[in-house]
Order: sequence, then C-alpha cells, then structure tokens
Amino acid sequence: MSCPDCARKCEIVKMGTLELDLCDGCGGLWFDRNELERLPKELSPDDLTGELQAVVARLAVRKAASKSYPLCPMCHESMNLAQYQKVSGVVIHRCVTCGVWLDGANAAKFFFLFEAGRMAEFEQRAERANTEELEARVAKLEKQQSLPPSSCAMSEIPVTRSDSWGVFAVFDLLGFLGSLFRD
Ligand SMILES: [Zn+2]
Ligand SMILES: [Zn+2]
Repeated sequence: MSCPDCARKCEIVKMGTLELDLCDGCGGLWFDRNELERLPKELSPDDLTGELQAVVARLAVRKAASKSYPLCPMCHESMNLAQYQKVSGVVIHRCVTCGVWLDGANAAKFFFLFEAGRMAEFEQRAERANTEELEARVAKLEKQQSLPPSSCAMSEIPVTRSDSWGVFAVFDLLGFLGSLFRD
C-alpha cells in the first residue's frame, strides 16, 4: 500500500492480531475496516512494550499532518473527515468501504491518548453524545406532531354559537313584533 499523504510505500506493523500499514515518511497509519475500533479492545496500554513500543515511538517522531484531503489508499475514492469517538480530538479520514487513515500527527495523538488510558472514557462520552442526539431528534419530532389545539378550534366554536344565538334573538324579536300587530 502507498501512503495517501506522501506516496511512500507503507510497511506492515503488527499490533496484537491487527496488521496496520505504517508510513515511515510521515508517520501515518492505515487501519482496515473496523481495526481502529478493535485496537482499544484487543490491546491495553500495558501491552505497548518491546516492538510495539518501538512503533509508537516512531509515530511520535514523524507527526506530519495531511496537507490536503488524502484519497483512500485502497479504492482511491475520497474519504470523510471525522473525529475518533466524536470527542477525542483525533482527526480521522474514513473510507466507508475500506478503512481509516490517521495522518502522522493524529496517529501520534491517538497513541498518546491510548497510552494515557483514555480510550474507554472517549467511547463512553461518544455513546452519551449519540444518545443525546437521538433524544433531541425524537423530542423535535414529537413537538412537530403534537401542535396544541390553537386558534382554529378556539375561535370557530364560540363564533358559531354566538351567531346562532343572534339568529334566535332576531326571530324572537320578529315574533314579539308580530304578536303586537296581531292584537
Ligand atoms: Zn506518508
Ligand atoms: Zn476505499
């Protein structure tokens, strides 16, 4: 695989059962689909020893940021910008079909936070944010569907009633006047 940022050939690095593609030029890291989400579940900060520690140390040295919007290194389509777990501050480029690219700066940031044991916290906060978004959307829908019984119902009924009372009053008056002339 070639690096989507600097076109250098990436090398495969193993982290647990995951095989990631690392660019030694800019420190960018490619995760196949679902690998980024699997990493914090398969590894703990304590596992970052020996070879893994060496990989993470290399990421911390390069830290080159993407200069533009990189294309997916697999299918060469454009990728979506997102934030890992919504609240982590780690910017990711996601190809919906193939996987996720972290440029050098964000790969370094990701492992800095991973080593600090922050991943579970980000996952929880992202879940909470998702729930809140969903609740807000439901509340908005409910508001749209249950409009209060406003002007139409309030105004029509009394008007009809007073009109018919008015009509009765006129008939009564005519009846009264008629009875005066009949006598
Ligand atoms: Zn590169
Ligand atoms: Zn792709």
